Amino acid sequence: MQAQQILLDSRPDGLPTHANFKLVPVSLPAIQMGEFLVKNLWMSVDPYMRGRMVDRESYIAPFVLGEALEGGSIGEVIESRHSSFPVGAKVTSMLGWRSHYVTDGSDHTLLPETPLSESHFLGVLGMPGMTAWTGLNRIAELKEGETLFVSAASGAVGSVACQLAQLMGCKVIASVGSDEKATHLKSLGVDAVINYKTVDNLSAALQVAAPQGVDVYFENVGGEHFAAALDNMNDHGRIAVCGMIAQYNDTAPTPGPSNLALIIMKKLKIEGFIVFEHWAHYPEFTQQMAQWLSTGAVKAEQTIYEGLASAPDAFIGLFEGKNRGKMLVKLS
Ligand code: NDP
Repeated sequence: MQAQQILLDSRPDGLPTHANFKLVPVSLPAIQMGEFLVKNLWMSVDPYMRGRMVDRESYIAPFVLGEALEGGSIGEVIESRHSSFPVGAKVTSMLGWRSHYVTDGSDHTLLPETPLSESHFLGVLGMPGMTAWTGLNRIAELKEGETLFVSAASGAVGSVACQLAQLMGCKVIASVGSDEKATHLKSLGVDAVINYKTVDNLSAALQVAAPQGVDVYFENVGGEHFAAALDNMNDHGRIAVCGMIAQYNDTAPTPGPSNLALIIMKKLKIEGFIVFEHWAHYPEFTQQMAQWLSTGAVKAEQTIYEGLASAPDAFIGLFEGKNRGKMLVKLS
């Protein structure tokens, strides 16, 4: 059958552009015994994919030029010669960026039966939600009553981190790139929200929002945010370094903050993490999160682009603040 996929056509220099992607037709072979055909329904675009577009050694292999991109997806089995993956089953895989594909089921997981939307398994119930939970609980060891600062706070990871901390009885201060995002987070009960694009001095704004200081910083952005957090951390504060999206498109080395000595003076603990190293805890996380979602204790936002051809726009949009909550592509 004829399918479509999106290739990495060239490696981006700075912010990715449409020229880096190519939508191509592909002929899929007939399925053999032990194989099945999947029609993708949803695919995820995530900031970490920008790192995979660079040809360098990292915790995950770079994308290969001229080959289909990869990323989280949810699909439906539409033809099967595999007893564990019958027609109609929904599966998750890393074979996003394509309309259909044939597989033997390696690295595929059947989606559990749930009254919740299946798309949440790419967001709040999937890798981004698990990242927020891991950063707060396993890395920063956030405790009831503490003050948390979260950057990129209205995104997939940040919005969950804010809500989980609120459930723990913490004071939550968030940083976002628009007034509309700030209003939304306040409606979710976040104590104070800073629009980093409109304040003159992020560190001073954080001090006003957190006069009692910050105990835990959930770092998603880097650069000025990291420096502002250091200025405002309390003694023995913890920083969970999850991401540094402000630097992913840099074309020259980013200058470091000038206040790193505060790490010593304030006796801070700073720890980076990659969520996949914590995946043994996914069942514990997903059980709690499914409950919070179904009771409405956690609200899941999504920004949805329509059609495979819109995937490059959705991906580029992550670096332009175009999403609130999880950025997803719905495949038609
Ligand atoms: P988001 O849904 O938060 O999307 C990205 C958001 O980042 C944008 O909406 C934008 O919001 C903000 N942003 C983009 N560019 C900048 C910039 N230059 N300065 C400040 N903010 C910016 O993405 P995720 O929630 O999926 O990821 C958040 C972070 O977590 C990323 O750094 C990502 O790499 C990291 N991550 C790390 C994982 C790990 O295992 N360590 C796993 C998953 C994610 P705004 O409008 O507010 O600017």
